[in-house]
Amino acid sequence: MTIKIAIIGSGPSGFYTADALLKGDRDVEIDIIERLPTPFGLIRGGVAPDHQTTKKVARAYERTALAEKVAYFGNVQVGKDVTMDEMREMYDAVVLAIGAPSDRKLGIPGQDKRGVYGSADFVGWYNGHPDFTDLAPNLDTRNVAIIGNGNVALDISRVLVKTTEEMSETDIALHSARAIENSPITDVYMFGRRGPVEAKFTNVELREMGKLDNCVPIIDPAQIPAEIIGEMSDRDRRLKERNLATLREFSDVDPTGKTKRVHFGFYASPVEVLGGDRVEGLRLERTKVVNGRAVGTGEFFDIECGLVIAAIGYFAKPIEGVPFDHEKGIVVHDDGRVGNGVYAVGWIKRGPTGVIGTNKPDGETAALQIFEDVPEGGKPGRAALRDRLEARDVPFLGYADWQTIDAAEQAAALPGAPRRKFVKVDDMLGALDFRR
Ligand code: NAP
Repeated sequence: MTIKIAIIGSGPSGFYTADALLKGDRDVEIDIIERLPTPFGLIRGGVAPDHQTTKKVARAYERTALAEKVAYFGNVQVGKDVTMDEMREMYDAVVLAIGAPSDRKLGIPGQDKRGVYGSADFVGWYNGHPDFTDLAPNLDTRNVAIIGNGNVALDISRVLVKTTEEMSETDIALHSARAIENSPITDVYMFGRRGPVEAKFTNVELREMGKLDNCVPIIDPAQIPAEIIGEMSDRDRRLKERNLATLREFSDVDPTGKTKRVHFGFYASPVEVLGGDRVEGLRLERTKVVNGRAVGTGEFFDIECGLVIAAIGYFAKPIEGVPFDHEKGIVVHDDGRVGNGVYAVGWIKRGPTGVIGTNKPDGETAALQIFEDVPEGGKPGRAALRDRLEARDVPFLGYADWQTIDAAEQAAALPGAPRRKFVKVDDMLGALDFRR
């Protein structure tokens, strides 16, 4: 009998799971359930708007979505439109592919002042994610502090300093592009609590910072270690050496003729956001790295800034009725098996690490487990979900509806840009000539 599987979440981990299930030798029916009308999760809402090549992976996801055994249910929120218990009743297996959409908190005084944002919110805002359309960050500042030394910190810094011309071929949300263009931002300070060796940047992304039209990277050469000490794999050592070489090149760059700067500040841990209601500055403690850990030196310094963005990693949201590890910010699972017919893949399973392709093995593992645990299907699956949503008047979308939205966004694109995104759910639904 056909095994009926629901995948909750239409980002990379959800699509890789669907793909792995299709490649198995079993009879399956797969429904991909997505809270937003639009699919692809972080590909649409997380990957930087100027990284269009990375976003091309969505074409492969589209092939999966269009497979005969797959259906897309957009604009359906599990937990609101349908409960997790109902999903379990209706499907032989339910795969959680819901990512880690919340920001980790800085945990320092002043973190709730106006003008302090987490990267999930800020990236969501410039990527046109409907949850963050109304964020309206006040960018009326010359200096911005970005906390964290990962690729997300690099993404945000780059988007804030690129020229209008450089951003013209991107799918940045128009309201954000205009706000950034019209802002007086000249200096972005990116702080890492540890050193260049410990930074999480990947080298291709780091090097981009040296190729910007109107911005130079600034780094004090004294912060770049002469050599890498400590045990690590040859591969890791090579990657770190590449980053150090790039940073050394940056320390030699001639800033003449460019009006913006991204300052790399290592060995600096934020201790307090300064100001009244609004952020006016950031206090940091100088650190040294001892056995791989940042240790405070007792020496503090302040920078003036009107915007602080913490790009320090993400956190998953607990799901009702599913055991959650609050410390790690993931669901409790045994290699992806959550129990009770539920499986986890991607960031809700592993935490917020790795690149897009890292999700592929998760999908393959989940597919194997489902085939092992559910030798025979028997639950109603798609027909039951459809009935339930219709009975509740939930305006759910199929994949063809998303293709209509997609075409409308592409048709509205400014010259050179791949699309102009709808940034509100109502506008997405408005592009469809339907009301269920
Ligand atoms: P990340 O790579 O884990 O970096 C988080 C950074 O925040 C680290 O430098 C970490 O420092 C720092 N941090 C954490 N807590 C802190 C605190 N309390 N105070 C100060 N600093 C703190 O996370 P991410 O940048 O959010 O990226 C998430 C994943 O997506 C990564 O795997 C990343 O590579 C991937 N990604 C890839 C791309 C790309 O390939 N182009 C683009 C975006 C994201 P410590 O190391 O000291 O903890």
